[in-house]
Amino acid sequence: MNYYAAREIIRGGHGIGLYHYTVENGGGIFPVGYCSSYRTCPTCNGQAMAGMPCGACERGAIKVDPCPGHPTKEEAEEHYRQYELDGASFDGMDESAQHKCAICQVWTQRYATFSSKPYYLCDEHRNRAALDTLTQGRVGEAVSSW
Ligand SMILES: [Zn+2]
Ligand SMILES: [Zn+2]
Ligand SMILES: [Zn+2]
Repeated sequence: MNYYAAREIIRGGHGIGLYHYTVENGGGIFPVGYCSSYRTCPTCNGQAMAGMPCGACERGAIKVDPCPGHPTKEEAEEHYRQYELDGASFDGMDESAQHKCAICQVWTQRYATFSSKPYYLCDEHRNRAALDTLTQGRVGEAVSSW
């Protein structure tokens, strides 16, 4: 099982008063999303350290600084929410049922996907701004089996 939560960063056995959004599993605790030091390499799609040349293809470079941590759990959760927003897709379609748009209640078969969950939204509202509104404060502690 994977246990997702904002956790205090530990260095040398002591908490440093800053938080990352992390996953805990059998292998330990790891920062995830934009709190992670790893990014997908734009050249080879492998995993590469932030701010370093990609070790796999030695061409791509990940031009972001690693996340230094956040003063509160809520800010760490928000950093992860931004990662999920950037990874959201807006092309979902339920062929078999109609659903009410989460914003205006108009019937729709279309949905956006945020953090592997569907958010039913009409053509007018199936965009990042609406998803941003709907997911405010929705990233917290979570458990997943993958
Ligand atoms: Zn972060
Ligand atoms: Zn690469
Ligand atoms: Zn709508």
